[in-house]
Amino acid sequence: MQVPLLDLTQQYKTLKQELRPVIDTVCDTQSLILGPHVERFEKNLAEYCQATHAIGVSSGTDALVCAMMAIDLKPGDEVICPSFTFFATAGSIARLGATPVFVDIDPRTFNIDVAKIEPAITPRTRAIVPVDLFGQMCRIDEINQIAARHGLVVIEDAAQAIGARRHDKPACSQAHVGCLSFYPTKNLGAFGDAGAICCHDDKLAEKLRKLRVHGSGHTYHHEMIGGMFRLAALQAAVLNVKLKHLEQWHAARRRNADIYNQVLRSSRVITPFIEAGNLSIYNQYVVRVADRDNVKKRLADKGIGSGIYYPLGLHGQPCFAHLGYKTGSLPETERACGEVLALPIFPELSEEQVRYAAETLREIAG
Ligand SMILES: *Cc1c(COP(=O)(O)O)cnc(C)c1O
Repeated sequence: MQVPLLDLTQQYKTLKQELRPVIDTVCDTQSLILGPHVERFEKNLAEYCQATHAIGVSSGTDALVCAMMAIDLKPGDEVICPSFTFFATAGSIARLGATPVFVDIDPRTFNIDVAKIEPAITPRTRAIVPVDLFGQMCRIDEINQIAARHGLVVIEDAAQAIGARRHDKPACSQAHVGCLSFYPTKNLGAFGDAGAICCHDDKLAEKLRKLRVHGSGHTYHHEMIGGMFRLAALQAAVLNVKLKHLEQWHAARRRNADIYNQVLRSSRVITPFIEAGNLSIYNQYVVRVADRDNVKKRLADKGIGSGIYYPLGLHGQPCFAHLGYKTGSLPETERACGEVLALPIFPELSEEQVRYAAETLREIAG
């Protein structure tokens, strides 16, 4: 049996009838950038995320960059973030000339270790960028309290966590700014690059909308320097259709996770730990195993795809070598990098496929 890590063609097949007419509308009108589809999507998205404003942008990375521009992040500023995350989290900070300050993770959830945030704060700290990794929210409530005590901004990197909940509040509903990605592998995936920024503050939303189009309030009048972060109409049209199905896809991922949890319970495989009060959307189902690279190969031999998120912490990346982190400086991040393995979890998998993947892993890992 073949169990790919991800197969997007199956979802497209089931949505084709619904998507083609909408795509045709965009093609027929040739209104290709921003416009009514984007506005409709922003309204639907804000409602879904319980945010006052949602601003569609060109990617999750651009959402982060745009949000950081909006808080006037500048050279000399320090921003606290995890090292165990996708590159964009820290790359955006560095692109504005600011310095990422990497903090270790809680080994159970893989999210930033809240107890290690305060010791990392200095007079130069401007913001905290926690990540909702693999679809489970960070402890945003506690992070907001720390930020309030020290006058810091919280930018939630919720790229992997649209629709995730903590104490029944969705990702992006509580941070100063929340950033989303609609990269095709995320739970809500566009037909290319797309992203969004959520916030409650009216003034901030207005600034973000200007920064999205080169800092321009009206055409050829530039109040500030922004970027070109516009969302394409085609992406918004596709996302509007897909958003209606998102809760049902989250539920299917959770069902798949339940099967893995059950089959792997009495094995040596360490299954994902979801904190009390959290509802994960399982963008990835990530286990820890001994002898990970060998396990990955043996799964592949049996037709089962898997992925490694992430093989190297950002503090160990060549481009951040000048920051001076040594091996051993973030021990939990480094240990996770050697042990994590993401298993197929996408909604369209059959129960049979998930059982086969889970049972095969149990045999291999013991
Ligand atoms: C995917 C992702 C991003 C970036 O999103 P893109 O749309 O690929 O630019 C940022 N942060 C995290 C944690 C991500 O997983």
